Amino acid sequence: MIIFKESVSISKYLRAKQISGCKIGFVPTMGALHKGHISLIDKAKEKNDITVCSIFINPTQFNNADDFNKYPVTISNDLLQLAQAKCDVIFLPSVAEMYPNGLNSTPAYNLGNLEFILEGAHRPGHFQGVCQVVQRLLKIVQPNTLFLGQKDYQQTLVIKNMIASAGINVEVVISPTTRLPSGLAMSSRNLRLTEQQLEQASAIYKMLEYLKDNHTQQPEESIKFATDFLLKNGFETVDYVSILNIPQLTPVTSTKNSSEKMIAIAATIAGVRLIDNMIIY
Ligand code: AMP
Repeated sequence: MIIFKESVSISKYLRAKQISGCKIGFVPTMGALHKGHISLIDKAKEKNDITVCSIFINPTQFNNADDFNKYPVTISNDLLQLAQAKCDVIFLPSVAEMYPNGLNSTPAYNLGNLEFILEGAHRPGHFQGVCQVVQRLLKIVQPNTLFLGQKDYQQTLVIKNMIASAGINVEVVISPTTRLPSGLAMSSRNLRLTEQQLEQASAIYKMLEYLKDNHTQQPEESIKFATDFLLKNGFETVDYVSILNIPQLTPVTSTKNSSEKMIAIAATIAGVRLIDNMIIY
């Protein structure tokens, strides 16, 4: 496992590997790694000769300073997990390395409606920051394949949109969400919850499962039922429970047809904001 901190050095190393015929798979992360991240590494390894993982807590994608300051940092444990997963190359850039022209210097991306719904609505500027950092990382790593998690479904659409607009030549693979035995989606932010709060937080998954099997009723009824359930079961706020058509993420008006849809939930427990989703038919 080779660790790079400078973009010039990692680029030079990876370009030489590509010239010798190696295919590169890339998994960008913000660290505090868990089995969900490692599932992406495993998938990248299956399909590529070299797997690169970046760890960078991107300041421009946090709309809330408290969330940024409290974001878990577990770098030695991260490196241990990456070594066990046999990840080939790790990129640990500094803020200066990722934003050589300063934090406010990148032009705005046109993300259409994605910027104004769900995470876009509740975290203003978040997806602009995601696009800035992912575009820069793609320029440095130049992977053949980029691996992203379905847990951040809206983010996968935003990144695909940015890749298409910027004309970047990379395949995007979306990988399923890894869950705890309780069904709670694995998340770096889970580290901020106690055992009891983690158990309570699995109410999100219980609601996704419930709505999956009981979505013949009107969407508003399902949404109200799920919101009330979360608020009665330990969550202090529910930003949204939404049932949407995919991939375009327009609101579903009738759940009776059998097209692919998604239930998306964002809610806060013990000051920790969690998101999750499930595809239904
Ligand atoms: P993050 O470090 O949270 O920015 O996530 C890095 C990548 O891992 C993103 O593509 C996420 O969607 C993905 N990811 C996060 N949690 C999970 C999970 N529980 N299962 C699978 N992928 C995940």
